[in-house]
Amino acid sequence: MKRIIVWFRNDLRLSDNEALHQACLDADEIIPYYCFEESAIHNDSWPFPKTGAFRAQFILESVAALQAQLREEGLELQIYHGSSLKGLLKIKEEYQARDVYCAEEVSQEELDREKEMEENGFKLKRFWQNSLYAKTDLPFEIHQLPEVFTAFRKKMEKYAQVPKALPKPALLKGPEKLMAGELPSLNTLGLATPSFDSRSAFPFKGGGQAARTRMQSYFWEETRILEYKNTRNGLIGDSYSSKFSPWLALGCISAREIYWELKKFEEEVKSNSSTYWMYFELLWRDFFRFTALKEGRSFFRMKEVQAMKTLPHFEAWRIGETGQAFVDANMKELLQTGFMSNRGRQNVASYLIHDLKIPWHLGAAWFESQLIDYDVCSNYGNWTYLAGLGNDPRPNRYFNVQGQAERYDTDGAYQRLWLT
Ligand SMILES: Cc1cc2nc3c(=O)[nH]c(=O)nc-3n(C[C@H](O)[C@H](O)[C@H](O)COP(=O)(O)OP(=O)(O)OC[C@H]3O[C@@H](n4cnc5c(N)ncnc54)[C@H](O)[C@@H]3O)c2cc1C
Repeated sequence: MKRIIVWFRNDLRLSDNEALHQACLDADEIIPYYCFEESAIHNDSWPFPKTGAFRAQFILESVAALQAQLREEGLELQIYHGSSLKGLLKIKEEYQARDVYCAEEVSQEELDREKEMEENGFKLKRFWQNSLYAKTDLPFEIHQLPEVFTAFRKKMEKYAQVPKALPKPALLKGPEKLMAGELPSLNTLGLATPSFDSRSAFPFKGGGQAARTRMQSYFWEETRILEYKNTRNGLIGDSYSSKFSPWLALGCISAREIYWELKKFEEEVKSNSSTYWMYFELLWRDFFRFTALKEGRSFFRMKEVQAMKTLPHFEAWRIGETGQAFVDANMKELLQTGFMSNRGRQNVASYLIHDLKIPWHLGAAWFESQLIDYDVCSNYGNWTYLAGLGNDPRPNRYFNVQGQAERYDTDGAYQRLWLT
């Protein structure tokens, strides 16, 4: 009797999930498992939680959606709050399973966790499944990954193909008497329930079904995708960009599933520079992910972090009280909703780094806490890029924030929305 534990992390879906797919081929029974990792929610490094309430809420909703989907198939998601290792040890004791299938992750914290599991006798099998392109399809060795995005893009476009998304597998049963998993509340995670702000760019709801509903409306019903290239620098409302990022960050839907839906749309409706641009942006996501894989620990450039907790100007930036109206409006949106547009992110990051001269790590840490779409590779990749470190280093990636406000918030509507 072979039992395999399928460890869900940032791949909270049943379709296009190779780890789950392969487990269903290799095992007699599977045990789906998720852990709310305490050290990823609270730690002592910063004066705010590592996972803030908005993000935690979105994760809870997404895990609940996965739990419900599995339950429909007769499987109980084993849910643990504490350390992933301790949860696994409990499962091992109850069900005598030590084979673990999971997605291949790149961040140091995840790798450290995996190492700990292997040291405790678990056999891990990892599957690269959270990017457009497969790791094995890269047309170069990973250490030869281009430093600059454009070079990467050209190589991928010329020599690689996005694999088809895998369908949902025929799920195996779990062991008899698999205990019902219990979701923690925000309260038990030590976080307060955030209130919904009606000015929010989108009423985000976790889970794969919500992701598909959004894709259906953004592509097919409202065909906003056809004007994406012109609207993507917008600041207000649900239609200026796709809002796919929170679901992608948790893997409620995969980048490949979006890509192939986009291809279908191009074939059946229309292909233009906007539909291409959606692929282009998803490719940026891949670029940061593969860069993190290539660079390992040095991707985070944490050796530059000094022993610092906070600085007065940082606090003003964090809560949107710097006196720079465009920055403050964006920071208030982030504080009160857990989301901010890409244009906003570039500006507030540049302002923190180049105008306030505050170490970028603090800004990245606040984004990590607050953004519901926090993704380790995209967040740290974008921050180091704007700090002039990391890939394609240029000393002065400076945004003239006042000029940007005049260009992208011409009539000041965005600033009025958040500041009055
Ligand atoms: C300082 C900074 C920090 C960021 N942190 C994150 C983060 O933690 N998580 C995250 O998903 N994105 C991050 N981004 C990238 C980008 O701002 C968001 O992906 C985007 O705003 C999400 O909105 P959307 O889904 O409507 O994007 P769309 O414009 O509709 O783009 C479609 C998808 O392409 C990908 N994408 C778009 N722009 C980028 C980019 N610059 N880098 C990587 N992927 C991109 C995302 O997956 C996005 O969902 C950051 C950008 C900056 C400047």
